[in-house]
Amino acid sequence: MNILARIDPEVARAIDLECKRQQSKIELIASENFVSKAVLQAQGSVLTNKYAEGYPGHRYYGGCEFVDIAENLAIERAKSLFGAEHANVQPHSGAQANTAVYFAFLQPGDTILGMNLAHGGHLTHGSPVNISGKYFKIVPYGVDEVSHRINYDEVRRLAMENRPKMMVAGASAYSRIIDFERMGAIARECGAMFMVDMAHIAGLVAAGLHPSPVPHADIVTTTTHKTLRGPRGGLILCKAEHAKAVDKAVFPGIQGGPLMHVIAAKAVALREAMGEEFRAYQAQIIKNAKALAEKLTTEGFSLVSGGTDNHLMLLDLRNQRLTGKVAEKLLDEVGVTVNKNAIPFDPESPFVTSGIRIGTPAVTSRGMQEDAMLAIGEIIAMVLNNPEDSMVKTRAAGLVAKLTKKYPLYADLG
Ligand code: PLP
Repeated sequence: MNILARIDPEVARAIDLECKRQQSKIELIASENFVSKAVLQAQGSVLTNKYAEGYPGHRYYGGCEFVDIAENLAIERAKSLFGAEHANVQPHSGAQANTAVYFAFLQPGDTILGMNLAHGGHLTHGSPVNISGKYFKIVPYGVDEVSHRINYDEVRRLAMENRPKMMVAGASAYSRIIDFERMGAIARECGAMFMVDMAHIAGLVAAGLHPSPVPHADIVTTTTHKTLRGPRGGLILCKAEHAKAVDKAVFPGIQGGPLMHVIAAKAVALREAMGEEFRAYQAQIIKNAKALAEKLTTEGFSLVSGGTDNHLMLLDLRNQRLTGKVAEKLLDEVGVTVNKNAIPFDPESPFVTSGIRIGTPAVTSRGMQEDAMLAIGEIIAMVLNNPEDSMVKTRAAGLVAKLTKKYPLYADLG
């Protein structure tokens, strides 16, 4: 029996059940992934014991010489992987990274031009319930009503009209390439700082499969746990001229002691992201998303913007007369995990929605390729086209079990 199970059987049971859930379900949540065992090991290490307020070589605590090694590795790897002049690897999450950037460069009441949450943006880009929306004046931009793509002319019009202090690009539910060069040019024209939150696409950017925002943005933030396939956490990249302000905003601005075990795990993930295998993995994520999008289209589903260029797609379920909330539950019942998601100009509330978001990073980490995507598309279509049919659900659950068995995950973890 392992130590955790002996000392705390209740927590051990929760972890065991979650492991089994990950192993036995098809994970299509676009922001999730399965980290390597090396990342798990670094994160579950004794580095969790260490206080290390400050930065490598300049700490407020003694005994930091070894955690400094880990943090310096993470910093250097982040800079090298993304071609950035400076990296701060301490943000505890993507939201913390974004908040630190706002704290570094803005005053309460300043104007931010950010992508509307209802059109695919993120809470931290100016939602009224987030600190970004409460402390700053938000001018939202969105997608075109017909093409469902960012309308850059409209972004420019809003930028010139409102003269924001900061422009934010990046999204949580946008399936097309974002033109960071064009957004950067607009920001410069209107005199705004330009921040890109590349959380969703960081892995694709690292692999050179999505244009990098780094040459065009003053600041780039990301999470480390989505396509990048690292531990849960945040990361900020910036030009050297902004390094001091960013570092000060993270600590002591909005955080205390860094999570050194997570930073070590970030270093491991960043090293993994430098390899050829990782590039092939990212290419497969995109191939899988395209294959799944095509299959779902053939099955009669409508995709927001008509398809995908990256790792995710948004299904508009109004033709099926289903809400996102109902579809999420129906798929969960057969072992397929997705999240309900607003579609642009959604007539339903954010708690109900007319869509679901589907992503391929996690299933691709299991080794699934296009043929498996066709099988997954088939399962989704069976279930959503026959929501009342329990025989269909049983058959779909059987197909999920077959697929997850064929592509095992964490085979020696329980
Ligand atoms: N930025 C974007 C674009 C995201 O999609 C997310 C999370 O979904 C975040 C930031 C926030 O990351 P976290 O959940 O680590 O705070």
